[in-house]
Amino acid sequence: MKKFRGIFIKNDYEISILREANRIVALILDQLEGRIKPGICTMELEDAANKLCEEFNVKPAFKGYQGFPYTLCCSVNEVIVHGFPNTDELKSGDILSVDMGVQHRGFFGDSARTFAIGEISAEADNLIKVTRQALYEGISRSIPGNDLYEISGAIEKYSKAHGCSIIKRFVGHGIGASLHEKPELPNFVPRRRPKIPLKTGMVLAIEPMLSLGSDQVEIMADNWTAKTKDRSLSAHFEHTVVITRDGPEILSSLD
Ligand code: MG
Ligand code: MG
Repeated sequence: MKKFRGIFIKNDYEISILREANRIVALILDQLEGRIKPGICTMELEDAANKLCEEFNVKPAFKGYQGFPYTLCCSVNEVIVHGFPNTDELKSGDILSVDMGVQHRGFFGDSARTFAIGEISAEADNLIKVTRQALYEGISRSIPGNDLYEISGAIEKYSKAHGCSIIKRFVGHGIGASLHEKPELPNFVPRRRPKIPLKTGMVLAIEPMLSLGSDQVEIMADNWTAKTKDRSLSAHFEHTVVITRDGPEILSSLD
């Protein structure tokens, strides 16, 4: 595969497989979304996700990745990312972030969404909306010739303008024949940064994680579950996007 400054440039054939992989992730997330309501538990979503992976003939990308034990990351309320599915009942007022990845014909799909469970507070609703829109602000800057950090800057500016904190510990990433490839894509503009012009054929997983309070992270005893230090609510949206001549194409969306 061709590289530019260490970043893989995908050809049309590779992009077509990435398109399939990410479309499957979107279909699975849609199916899971239809099951989400007060009273269910995230382990039910995990079981459903495993069945859907079998039906689509894809391999869950996260299970076994650096020892992560499940197909889904299910992160409730103050959990930012990497939460384990469990048998606790979801209740009205909770928010749930679901992150899903698959491997399909040697390429990866990766996408995340945060869902409201029943009736949620105005603050929680706002956090979800701001995080989703921050992602789309970043996507809109994903055009050839722009610098990579214009994506970061757009996410940062929108998030801060709307009163949310950026979790800096976790970043977006290149994606392709590996789940995590170069470059790292922070959700803020780092003080020291190389120039990375975006090129047609680069594929990025853009994934803002925001909170209503502290941007500090605490990792739980399971070595995965990442919570906000002050236990404030956190949301996460992610799309896999390919940079084309005509601008960004969101691979993990059915629209
Ligand atoms: Mg993900
Ligand atoms: Mg990702």
